[in-house]
Amino acid sequence: MFCGVGSSVVPDTYRDDLIKLHRKIINDMKLKGPDYRWSMNDFQIGAPLGRGKFGRVYLAREKNTHYMVAIKLLIKSELLKHGMQHQVIREIEIQTHLSHPHILPLLTYFQDDKRIYLVLEFASGGELFKQLQNQHNQRFSEATSAKFIDQVADAIDYCHKNKVIHRDIKPENLLLTATGDIMLADFGWSVHAPCSKRKTMCGTVDYLPPEMIENRAYNEKVDYWCVGVLCYELIVGKPPFETNSQNLTFERIKKVDVKYPSFMSALAKDLISKLLKYNPSDRLTMTEVRQHPWILSTKTKS
Ligand code: AMP
Repeated sequence: MFCGVGSSVVPDTYRDDLIKLHRKIINDMKLKGPDYRWSMNDFQIGAPLGRGKFGRVYLAREKNTHYMVAIKLLIKSELLKHGMQHQVIREIEIQTHLSHPHILPLLTYFQDDKRIYLVLEFASGGELFKQLQNQHNQRFSEATSAKFIDQVADAIDYCHKNKVIHRDIKPENLLLTATGDIMLADFGWSVHAPCSKRKTMCGTVDYLPPEMIENRAYNEKVDYWCVGVLCYELIVGKPPFETNSQNLTFERIKKVDVKYPSFMSALAKDLISKLLKYNPSDRLTMTEVRQHPWILSTKTKS
């Protein structure tokens, strides 16, 4: 059996071996123990992988195990200038406590006077967003979209069971492994669920749920809404409420004004419409998403 995204088609046995190898190397790195003081001397720095809000991300190799990692470098003065220090601490706390096949592992972290370094597993497939843009018509087939949604739903379900709300699910925050599997990344906006009465406005406009736009209290069901928006964007190539004005987008979100293109299957439409519900408690849960016929039918085909 084969699985793949775009041109990266990899046999399942190879994928299983790769996952085993990754887990072994993570354990080898952790053998240094929780008290080991990591520093840049432990790594050889390679090519830049991308630019984040507060610093760059580099490919690097751990000198001992030769394991390839991504190091996210955050500049402390920039974080302080924008009052983002608490967000980074939260990102570190949350990501070190989560361990799931579809959540990007934070392997370790360290700091010096000027910077904070986050050592992350290297997602060699890059951003899902870039893969989406590289597709014919900038959209994925429904089979590929269903595979991604199933993996995202699995990761979110795990987060919620651990009382973490992600709050910023979108293609830019989903990375891919070498085998084209999802890694949920960027927990910078996530919160521990007990604080869910907060009314912080965050996330990307196109993915904001009505309760956040209307500044109402919200809970983990904000993530369910985002899965609906994501599913639409993967299949159609653009998010459902996109306009060239932020206010107009807000109006469309509040009215749940979704237009489904004729090429979308009835089952996909059924799933999306059951996630994009104004009332959070009417939305499908992640378990229900993973049991939906659209997901199950594509699983039996692959
Ligand atoms: P971020 O600061 O998390 O938004 O990261 C900036 C960019 O660096 C992302 O958009 C990715 O293209 C890249 N990147 C971040 N983390 C990784 C990773 N673990 N593996 C590969 N690329 C990454």
